[in-house]
Amino acid sequence: MKAAVLHRYDPELRNKELVIYQDTPDPDPPTGEEVLVHIRAAGVCRTDLHMITGRDLGMPLASLPHILGHENAGIVKAIGDDVQGFEVGDKVLCYPFQSNGGSLAERYGIDSQANQRITPGINASGGFCEFLKFPQRSLIKVGRDANLNELAPLGDAGLTAYGAVRKLMGHIRPQDNIVVIGIGGVGHLGAQLLSRLTPGKIFAVDPRESARDLANKAGIKNCFESLEELEFLKEDADSGVRAIIDFFGEDRIPNQALRLLANQGRYVAVGTGGEVRLSTAELVAKEISIVGSFVGTFTDLVEITNLTERGELVSEVMTYSLADANRALQDLAQGKVTGRAVLIPE
Ligand SMILES: [Zn+2]
Repeated sequence: MKAAVLHRYDPELRNKELVIYQDTPDPDPPTGEEVLVHIRAAGVCRTDLHMITGRDLGMPLASLPHILGHENAGIVKAIGDDVQGFEVGDKVLCYPFQSNGGSLAERYGIDSQANQRITPGINASGGFCEFLKFPQRSLIKVGRDANLNELAPLGDAGLTAYGAVRKLMGHIRPQDNIVVIGIGGVGHLGAQLLSRLTPGKIFAVDPRESARDLANKAGIKNCFESLEELEFLKEDADSGVRAIIDFFGEDRIPNQALRLLANQGRYVAVGTGGEVRLSTAELVAKEISIVGSFVGTFTDLVEITNLTERGELVSEVMTYSLADANRALQDLAQGKVTGRAVLIPE
């Protein structure tokens, strides 16, 4: 089969060819509860770029050569003897964690925090290829008419957005101001979920005009280029900024964001690369919460799949052929992707 393979780290993303489109061995036929999926759509995530740079992501990563791709959707190609509920030809969306369900974390439904988890594209071979096996436990069957290009980004971007927004449900009151930083692949879904699922007034921040247009399309009318423009919110004595979701998380942004929070405000970090610095005195006196948010649960994915199939959550995607994976990665690195880039194998 064809695959886009990462062979060497490139800390500055200088190479034109970040991955190599090449032939690789087909997976073995599925056995037991395994399902062989013909990948029809694979989302391209900022984490893929981080992995290409060789950056520390705070979790175990695969060694090279490696096939990226943790946001996958496709069509069932073959099933193992013990598979129930899936047939050849079914369209499926892939949950990004594979596990046997036995650990305590998994019994709580938090597969994303299970120590033994396997994440295709991260610590195992991923979906920038034609065929990949999944345990049936990690698959969601979707409708015959489902648009896999739009569903694939739910597997990480949508799930991550929802996981973050869920950490604010109940915390946001109708009069509150909420700031969303970064309206990219994850952020544009987060902005939609925030406006559907929480009250309050949403402010979106992104330096790119195309991203602000996307926020506008999601119904967010208050869009700004930088956090500096939101200083006026600190003067709102009733609320200030009650919550911030930071889908960017790099450079000076996390600390700038923290300075905007009102007392008892909550900062949810999703994007990575930066650092959070706050004196414990300020943390205590203002009762601020700083929360990390990492992907989401299987049932979260079922919920946002339902929202998407009902037309209430819309993934904006730009499609590229798998052979064109380098262009997709470069476009993402250069901020040229509006919404999510999705690779389509031949
Ligand atoms: Zn991702």
